[in-house]
Amino acid sequence: MEDVLFKHNFTFKKKYGQNFLTDPNLLDAIVSDAGVGEESTVLEIGTGAGALTRALSKRAKRVVSFEIDKSLQPVLAETLAGCENVEVVFRDFAKSSLAETEKELGGDYLVVANLPYYITTPVVMKFVEEGTHCRGFTVMVQEEVARRFCAEAGSPDYGAVTAAIARRGECKIVRFVSRALFTPRPNVDSAVVRADFTAGGFSVKSEKVYRETVRCAFLSRRKTLENNLMSCFSLSRGEAKELLRLADVPEGARGETLSPQKLGALSDFIAEKRGLFW
Ligand code: SAM
Repeated sequence: MEDVLFKHNFTFKKKYGQNFLTDPNLLDAIVSDAGVGEESTVLEIGTGAGALTRALSKRAKRVVSFEIDKSLQPVLAETLAGCENVEVVFRDFAKSSLAETEKELGGDYLVVANLPYYITTPVVMKFVEEGTHCRGFTVMVQEEVARRFCAEAGSPDYGAVTAAIARRGECKIVRFVSRALFTPRPNVDSAVVRADFTAGGFSVKSEKVYRETVRCAFLSRRKTLENNLMSCFSLSRGEAKELLRLADVPEGARGETLSPQKLGALSDFIAEKRGLFW
């Protein structure tokens, strides 16, 4: 791969988070981690020099891969030659409509990517919040971010992103990856996170209210949930107390101690009581 990049005078762009993978064993392992099979349609974000794309192409039915950097076009013409089931879309994924992309994909799909570090969370949140046909994601991210995605309630890494992902499904770190395996070598180690949207998720009465409840729970970690609820939802102290009592949340609890399921239950009571309070 490096010789193809050199041949086409490619220069790595830090602003796009270009840290490429080359180790064939690691690439195959990521494809296995993702559970990609011959019936799978895969959406990849960040084609790079096409190393992961090629590995995906061997096992998937179809791979659609977004890449922002058009200077990779001649490189990919070479590295992905013969991969008939791959389509590279040279577009900024962050500015693309997921609804449009889903229309293009035409059915259920898996997201598999070595994500550019500067847009990791917004990209993941896009699938969490808008991914109607997304069956889950398997993504390489910075280790610290991976821990936040899969954290236990009450732990220091637990936050709004954890609770948002958990509502869609099970999330776990499936692999730790040394910085030495990337070109160029980044300053931090990475991990592969797999979130399975077909298992372990839960439904809520209103996704919008759940999102707002989660935002509110983590608004100010120094404040009690009762106080955060009062300011987020413009409630009186009595109303906030009543909601917490209904959801069986102990007096004086802080938002970050509530499991995602408990936040879901609380958001359902908020959704139900809306008519009374607003
Ligand atoms: N998949 C390749 C690999 O594993 O070697 C490359 C991964 S590299 C970490 C991230 C890739 O995402 C880069 O090729 C970068 O140009 C691309 N990228 C960065 N921002 C993007 C965006 N907004 N939309 C699409 N691709 C983007």
